[in-house]
Amino acid sequence: MKKKDLIKRAAKLSRPFRISDGNEFRLKHIDPGYTLGIKSEDKPKAKEALKWGIEVLAEMQDKLYAQDRYALLLIFQAMDAAGKDSAIKHVMSGINPQGCQVFSFKAPSNEELDHDFMWRCIKRLPERGRIGIFNRSYYEETLVVRVHNEILNKQKLPEKLVTKYIWDERFQDIRNIEKYLNRNGIILRKFFLHVSKDEQKKRFLERIDNPDKNWKFSSSDINERGYWNDYMKAYEDMIRNTATKNSPWYVVPADNKWFTRLVVAAAIIDSLASLDLKYPKVGEEKLKELAEAKHSLL
Ligand code: ATP
Ligand code: MG
Repeated sequence: MKKKDLIKRAAKLSRPFRISDGNEFRLKHIDPGYTLGIKSEDKPKAKEALKWGIEVLAEMQDKLYAQDRYALLLIFQAMDAAGKDSAIKHVMSGINPQGCQVFSFKAPSNEELDHDFMWRCIKRLPERGRIGIFNRSYYEETLVVRVHNEILNKQKLPEKLVTKYIWDERFQDIRNIEKYLNRNGIILRKFFLHVSKDEQKKRFLERIDNPDKNWKFSSSDINERGYWNDYMKAYEDMIRNTATKNSPWYVVPADNKWFTRLVVAAAIIDSLASLDLKYPKVGEEKLKELAEAKHSLL
């Protein structure tokens, strides 16, 4: 397939899942099992398409790096076992490791709790020319912290700042920070991998039954599962409040891992294709230098 056609297909595949304006968004409109009509018999074809996509992605990343103007920040949020790790692993598999930085954000440390909530994430922002990946992010501040209010009490905020408006204030702060990042050449794409409660159960059982997957299982995951509906409400509200034209969310059906990966890769290709990526052209001076170097080598 020609590169131009692949880029067109990436747009077609990913845009149905892109939310650029949260106002109309309702999570219940998105079926975690949806595959855009691609049947599971076509999985081998989808896998092959992903392989081509990854090749194109590697080429685009090379230009991003050489041009050294933009950075791409990819944020992944999801319930446990939705496939964040494996989507990151597969989609980034063809990419030059020097151009890619992955960070996972867990419950904050004591040092981190002594700072504002963005501090630890700001420190991990990608450099120009790089792709940065946040496996969880500052969005947890509107998810796990909202679902478990007691976490908020441990954040050492001045009491009078903790009001019923805190979530709206956090959304506003996040929108502002993302706008600031955009204005500095950092392109943001945010992914919510939307898995169903039934599929999560299947994957947890697999982690328990398969010795090679035991290490992935943690009983706290079962505890969080008990708050499923609260999480879904928090995710919906988060997307409604923080999906913008420049920093859209992709709500990716995640019951079929092959489909999740395909959409994520397509979204990244579509995003990079929208930038004017090109290798830097060298000037007269440099061309002369190259000619001289060639002469002396020969
Ligand atoms: P996996 O379970 O697939 O290995 P994970 O991303 O779930 O990956 P965990 O080791 O389970 O990794 O830790 C992440 C936990 O940290 C999540 O439960 C998440 O909600 C929590 N966390 C992340 N950020 C915050 C935060 N700002 N405040 C409190 N908890 C947080
Ligand atoms: Mg976990």
